[in-house]
Amino acid sequence: MTETTAALEALLMQRSLTDAQLQAAAEAAADFRILPDATVLKIGGQSVIDRGRAAVYPLVDEIVAARKAHKLLIGTGAGTRARHLYSIAAGLNLPAGVLAQLGASVADQNAAMLGQLLARHGISAVESAGLSAVPLYLAEVNGVVFGGMPPYKLWIRPSAESVIPPYRTDAGCFLVAEQFGCKAMIYVKDEDGLHTANPKTSRDATFIPRISVDEMKARGLQDSILEFPVLDLLKQARHVRQVQIVNGLVPGNLTRALAGEPVGTIITAS
Ligand code: ADP
Ligand code: MG
Repeated sequence: MTETTAALEALLMQRSLTDAQLQAAAEAAADFRILPDATVLKIGGQSVIDRGRAAVYPLVDEIVAARKAHKLLIGTGAGTRARHLYSIAAGLNLPAGVLAQLGASVADQNAAMLGQLLARHGISAVESAGLSAVPLYLAEVNGVVFGGMPPYKLWIRPSAESVIPPYRTDAGCFLVAEQFGCKAMIYVKDEDGLHTANPKTSRDATFIPRISVDEMKARGLQDSILEFPVLDLLKQARHVRQVQIVNGLVPGNLTRALAGEPVGTIITAS
């Protein structure tokens, strides 16, 4: 046992787990990334998959070509069917934990469909992205599909404002990227990136190519193109210090983002 682990063990036996000295000792271990070569993609639910074939087929082609050079963890959004479920369930006064389970089932439906489209290329959908065989899939075929909802289910931390689950698929995919120490997190949606206002409702909205979390909050954009909790997760992240949002309806954008080009919007932690 090294000196640091011995010191940590002594602290762990004696102190509260949130003791400042104990936490500092736990932080002393060297940085370790579990899947440093992988990139997490989130394929939007409402923004992409709900548009059906016109949006999904070209992206499938792009994914199949890209995985020759990139290891891809492909998470799915939920979208309109989840919103419908949330409206019914909220109207029935059901709690956030129940809505989180309902939303997860829709993200899983989208993962099942995307998995079928990618099957002939050897890419499978898995029940959960929480490791198990994921490294093996990545090693063998450079890709795997998962439902993007984080598996909090009944135990989700509810928001103060409503029963809508605050951590949905944007957050679920980000957490996969961060926990595994992945190379990049790319959101594939239906707008060119972040704008000064929602381009679907504001005609004079202008495009923002690069912005930090703090600037986004200062400009009142925290609840816009990404679920708002993602901004705080990003700000405190150890590995994934920026995310990219690209318009997946424009062919080639995803490929360019994977190649490291600054297409779309890049949101930085600091
Ligand atoms: P997904 O289906 O991938 O979860 P969402 O539909 O939830 O995507 O989020 C993307 C949408 O966010 C865009 O289609 C756009 O209408 C909306 N949006 C709201 N505010 C902004 C903004 N400031 N800039 C860009 N898009 C915005
Ligand atoms: Mg969304």
